[in-house]
Amino acid sequence: MTFAKLGLIEPLLRALQTLGYNTPTPVQAQAIPAVLAGRDLMAAAQTGTGKTAGFALPLLQRLTMEGAKVASNSVRALVLVPTRELAEQVHANIQEYAEHLPLSTYAVYGGVSINPQMMKLRRGVDLLVATPGRLLDLYRQNAVKFSQLQALVLDEADRMLDLGFSEELRDIYAALPKRRQTLLFSATFSDPIRLLAGQMLDDPLSVEVSPRNEAASTVKQWVVPVDKKRKPELFSHLLRKQRWKQVLVFAKTRNGVDQLVERLQGQGVNADGIHGDKPQATRQRALDSFKARETQILVATDVAARGLDIEDLPLVVNFDLPIVAEDYIHRIGRTGRAGSTGEAISLVCADEVQLLSAIEMLTRKTLPRHEEPDFVPEHRVPLTDATGQVLKKPKKPKKPKESGGKKSLGRWMDSGDTVAETPAVKPVRKVPVFNTGPRKRKP
Ligand code: AMP
Repeated sequence: MTFAKLGLIEPLLRALQTLGYNTPTPVQAQAIPAVLAGRDLMAAAQTGTGKTAGFALPLLQRLTMEGAKVASNSVRALVLVPTRELAEQVHANIQEYAEHLPLSTYAVYGGVSINPQMMKLRRGVDLLVATPGRLLDLYRQNAVKFSQLQALVLDEADRMLDLGFSEELRDIYAALPKRRQTLLFSATFSDPIRLLAGQMLDDPLSVEVSPRNEAASTVKQWVVPVDKKRKPELFSHLLRKQRWKQVLVFAKTRNGVDQLVERLQGQGVNADGIHGDKPQATRQRALDSFKARETQILVATDVAARGLDIEDLPLVVNFDLPIVAEDYIHRIGRTGRAGSTGEAISLVCADEVQLLSAIEMLTRKTLPRHEEPDFVPEHRVPLTDATGQVLKKPKKPKKPKESGGKKSLGRWMDSGDTVAETPAVKPVRKVPVFNTGPRKRKP
């Protein structure tokens, strides 16, 4: 299979040749012809499958071949993404694909000044990548109009709902023309996402490139059981012993990120961290230098690492397991991308056994365990399997001596921890209820 066979025009083929994309990935092979033919699409494709090119290439082609020139303050295609980092990432990819096309593209997101974005939108933009909150701000200030909109993409839709964007999505949806093409991408397909798809899509083609909720099979995954307090030591030990080169590390809290980075830097390791407390410019700098391989270890919270796309990242380490099991799939999707192989190692303590069990249930895979000599935990991590069973009860945590009648937070949440960036309890995903009349597809 070649991109030319999928019906892409020469300027796009030329861009792909420059990028060294020779063969379409499975999601691209399915999505490109369908999107070119004007179909709505619902794709269960996780990061690393090439989904961005899967929607961007055919949309760019349609924008080039069809529709009027973009009017001032208008957009012709809109790509909604959950985070600023993903907005930057997706837009950077789109710019590469559109290099030889007479189209304008741009990305807007919060956390930076709105004025330059308003200025840029004045002339109109053919394809706009946006986070929902900032897009609504711009819309309410009349900086962007949707009357020319031909296509809408919801990228990482599950994440948008997880981050609480359902109301923004509903308001944006209400402002969009009913005649348009809609594409929905999601790493995982929960029932609320299916409901959302039912409301927003018109007779969509379903594309599922990896089995539902299955983590990338090209990623070798395992667990190292360890006592919680020895995780930093174990990390440094494995770093040295296994001669890790470039590692993306996930920690649960902002404090956790800072502490690990400080410790590593204290040991002379080239490490940096990103989390929601850091200004956007600092986060971007840290990402850029990690991507340029100038930083060896990047420690991140889930929210901050969203949209991170690094070619050939060999290793992801879960210093803490994610609280929301789906995040595990997002995390390990950073390695083993586009056919390359990768490794994902999780340092798991007894307190995390329920989180481990939830991940194994979601991925339908019992993660193999490797105990590291000298780090065998005193608090054993009970055995788990993909059926969700915890086969041996964990030891009861000791009562804290100084509790003074106060309830302990449990050993999971040290008093020094800040609140996790992912919600401590999986949020109930609110699904916007839209006023949907019958909608005609764009001819
Ligand atoms: P995505 O899933 O869209 O985040 O893409 C994952 C990575 O795969 C990105 O770095 C893309 O540049 C790369 N990629 C996408 N499609 C192809 C392809 N057909 N051949 C080679 N690399 C690709």
